[in-house]
Amino acid sequence: MDHLEALVVGRIATFAGDAGYGWVEAIGIAGGRVVASGRLAEVEAIAGPRTRRIHVEPGEVVFPALTDGHVHLIDTAMAADAIDLFQAATLEDALDMVVSAAARIPAPGWIQGSGWDQRRWHRWPTAADLERVAPGRRVALRSFDLHALWASAAALAGAGITAGTPDPPGGIVRRGLDGTPDGILFENATNVVMATVPPSSPDTIRRTLRSIARAFLALGVVGVHEFGTLAPDPGNASLDLYGAAAEAGEMPIRIWAGIRADALEDAIDRGLRSGAALTPIGTDRLTVGWYKLFADGTLGSKTAALLEPREGTSEHGIFTNPAAWLEERTRRAAAAGITTAIHGIGDAAVRSALDVLSPTAMSSAFMPRIEHVQLCHPDDRPRFGRHGIAASVQPIHLREDAQGARVDWGSRAESAGYTWRSLLDAGATVAFGTDAPLEPLDPWPGIAISVLRRDPTWSADHPAFGPHEAITLEGALRASAVGPWQLLRDPLGGRLVPGSHADVMVLPVMPDDDLLRGADFGRVRPRLGMVGGDVELER
Ligand SMILES: [Zn+2]
Repeated sequence: MDHLEALVVGRIATFAGDAGYGWVEAIGIAGGRVVASGRLAEVEAIAGPRTRRIHVEPGEVVFPALTDGHVHLIDTAMAADAIDLFQAATLEDALDMVVSAAARIPAPGWIQGSGWDQRRWHRWPTAADLERVAPGRRVALRSFDLHALWASAAALAGAGITAGTPDPPGGIVRRGLDGTPDGILFENATNVVMATVPPSSPDTIRRTLRSIARAFLALGVVGVHEFGTLAPDPGNASLDLYGAAAEAGEMPIRIWAGIRADALEDAIDRGLRSGAALTPIGTDRLTVGWYKLFADGTLGSKTAALLEPREGTSEHGIFTNPAAWLEERTRRAAAAGITTAIHGIGDAAVRSALDVLSPTAMSSAFMPRIEHVQLCHPDDRPRFGRHGIAASVQPIHLREDAQGARVDWGSRAESAGYTWRSLLDAGATVAFGTDAPLEPLDPWPGIAISVLRRDPTWSADHPAFGPHEAITLEGALRASAVGPWQLLRDPLGGRLVPGSHADVMVLPVMPDDDLLRGADFGRVRPRLGMVGGDVELER
């Protein structure tokens, strides 16, 4: 063997085998992969003079880096680029955010955001405020309820809104005494400006993707299973954007890019296959992922498809697509080498998705998967393992869902809802994700909630949700690191054993239960992150 490129020495969890942390003293890295792991003397013996030694401090722990099993990447990137004015306690805080956005977003790009509430600020904000901190910039900031828009002078001028402009039907332009628009628009008047905001350019999306990749790395996440944009994506344009970014070397994280429900024919025409490199240069950081279909709606909108009606009603929710159609799409995709994922939240949708995915499961490139699995009839739990269908779950959804689930599902909520432990015990392969940007991209609060079955934001009298479904911290970390790779049928991924990708994070502390119980997860941030043996994060 050639010399090691890097030697990591410290307290290292390898996740070797099926259980336990698999602690070792050292790992050796070459060619982007772990080539040795074990006792220090054994690994040291194959190090050479040019081997980079990665120093791990006492108290620090080394883990396989995490993969987020379910994100919408472009939407996450664009949402992160917008200003979140819910965070602005004062008008000056808001203007500080505009200043940093103006520095980040090159002119003439639009500065956008939402979440302001003039009642918190004790006066209406104005275009003049924006002109003071971001002169000449086009700014459009929606209020928290989306009924008002705070626009800059350049944005008003571009929309042709002047002192002489009458209020549009159903809308109001707020004005000074002389009739000059002061920067606040209500109701239909907001559309006059928003209609002039161009869709995000490919350059803008590329810029935001670069920065969101850094944000994932900073949280210990080095890979994402991507499930398509939430907005229409004609011709799979997002795949071309990922390809261009990867070829330009701009994406330090691994992406498995999903194919939207309406884009299967295009994907087949392009010759895409699950597990194949997406770009001609064949980087292992950009791979074709799953084809995404929907069986039902959601808990929140009361459209999750249920075996028994919602409590106190005769409503069973809805199947958003008939099983026969899902089956036809799944077979067509499978014949082209593309594996299917089906969104299933209610127990009837989960049962239907199991039926649809079973026939092609064993022969598919990746494991077929059901997204969310929020309510699962106990009889169906063993079917995941038996058929080789994965459960892709986002524990953080429980933070917002707990109360609504109890109301809508009654006793089912805690006996059959969010049953990650029972799924694991029944032999299911479980992968954790966040569903960003519908939830924050930080995986740690979700890891904590899967262990504690409650969230620090809940009031003290809010009981833990189905505490018998708690999993161990080790189990939660495995579901966040190993689980997503099991769905890729890669038995070594998400571990630090010989043959594993050298995707490594160095945490400043062991993320024990006490740490997770606190409201602040700020200490669970890697100090160092490697992707394929390259140090991509160091602080
Ligand atoms: Zn999603």
